[in-house]
Amino acid sequence: MRNGESRRVFVVGAGMSCEVGAPAVRRLLPSILESVGRKSILRTYLKRKASSNVEKVLGDLDDPRIWSSDLTRSEHKRVRAQLLCGIVRVFDKAYYEHLRRHFGLRRQDDPYYSDVRDYRVGEKVGKQHGLPFNGSTWTPEARKQLARERVRLRDRKCLDEVLPPLDWELLPVARAVGRRVAWQAWSGGLESLNVSRSPTAKPTRKQLAKASQILLDARGDRLDPYHLLVALLRPGDTIITLNYDLFLDRALFERLGDPVTPAFAVGYGSTFIGVRTCNEHPYETWNGFRGWRTSASTEDDDAVVVLKLHGGIDWLQCPSCHRGYCTPGTPGSCRAIRQMLIEDKRLSDCQPCCSRYDPRALEPCLVAPEPRKQIATPSLSDIWDFAQRRLENASELIFVGCALGSADNHVRKLIGQACASARPRLLVVNRDLGMQLQRRYRTLAEILKIAPAFWRPGNRTVQPTASAWLVERFLEAQGPAKRPIRQTPRANTRCTRRPPVRH
Ligand SMILES: [Zn+2]
Repeated sequence: MRNGESRRVFVVGAGMSCEVGAPAVRRLLPSILESVGRKSILRTYLKRKASSNVEKVLGDLDDPRIWSSDLTRSEHKRVRAQLLCGIVRVFDKAYYEHLRRHFGLRRQDDPYYSDVRDYRVGEKVGKQHGLPFNGSTWTPEARKQLARERVRLRDRKCLDEVLPPLDWELLPVARAVGRRVAWQAWSGGLESLNVSRSPTAKPTRKQLAKASQILLDARGDRLDPYHLLVALLRPGDTIITLNYDLFLDRALFERLGDPVTPAFAVGYGSTFIGVRTCNEHPYETWNGFRGWRTSASTEDDDAVVVLKLHGGIDWLQCPSCHRGYCTPGTPGSCRAIRQMLIEDKRLSDCQPCCSRYDPRALEPCLVAPEPRKQIATPSLSDIWDFAQRRLENASELIFVGCALGSADNHVRKLIGQACASARPRLLVVNRDLGMQLQRRYRTLAEILKIAPAFWRPGNRTVQPTASAWLVERFLEAQGPAKRPIRQTPRANTRCTRRPPVRH
């Protein structure tokens, strides 16, 4: 963070993800039930409880005083597993539906899935030659066969390959508007503006601003605001998110691969056991990733920190020791990853967290909005502590798509306590700026002894969504008042990108 710049904390809620197609909290249970069998124990349980609020159901299942009156211990285990996996499935599906509609990409274009397939090929070739899955002891013939098999796997596309070859500075805007709109704008005049990606020529600030305006003016009914948010991040920013989904993480993965300054590292506020696929053993210490060639650490003060207070769908936890696992950007509960971990355990008997480690028993790490003291997972406790520290130093709180409803009482309490003496500025961006929402924010502002600001677009026909706010901020940042970009051109244009888990 540079001297004089404010310490910003963004608090992101479900409203922002709804803009890219994630289901609203009230739609979550019906969506989960669509994917479970008619006679599933979860369906029977929910019918008995007559509850439509997934956060309440999840909270009840975390409290033995409540669930023990309805369920035996083994029933509880099954109901909870079905619910957690259902949540993961729904958000994973929403993300891939968005990728399909917005970019025309397929599930197998996911780099993590591609790695899982690569792992399987390595395993298959190893078996055929009677060798363990460890390249260092392989014969030349086995290596040659593996190379041939890998060539066949190289059919996946990454996100930037389906977009026009725009300058790095414009990629977040192209990602935000999506493939179809970006190509239409490209053939409609952008191509002649000299804003293509080039290792030698660099567009001027004015050209970039004009191109951004053209792309954003052409946007359709659905913009992905996360790509604009990550383009606006500065070192030292904090994002507290109450969402389980991966829209933010995936936008960060993309941006961190772009050779632009300022480069920053992204920390997640805790240390996980990272699961990677192409090693002899797929485990490593993981707490985030670094941007393009930055020397900054994910634990530096300058790191952008993403704090998922309620967990994420790419996190797992060991039910015995509660250590957290992460499969960055891809749900770890998916069949391909689960089978890979089971196979690794069979071959190597590795125990990454504790002596009772069983890959079959790893469960999604998602918690209901609940008080800090009830959180048993050490990774989540670390994250709450980290949030407290960043909030204590915040000079600006920006709530985006966050209703701050009764389920978020614990978050309100955390912010109220941490920021009591900091007196940060408070900005609220929300599609629904009704009286109830304003009252909730005014109550928080009273505790902080400040006045909240509610963002409204200059054009009153536009709804005050996260997308509308970020478009305005992005165009403002591109204006002539901003200092010139320092950009390091890279010799080759990118064609494939490995997921940042490798850093
Ligand atoms: Zn364990």
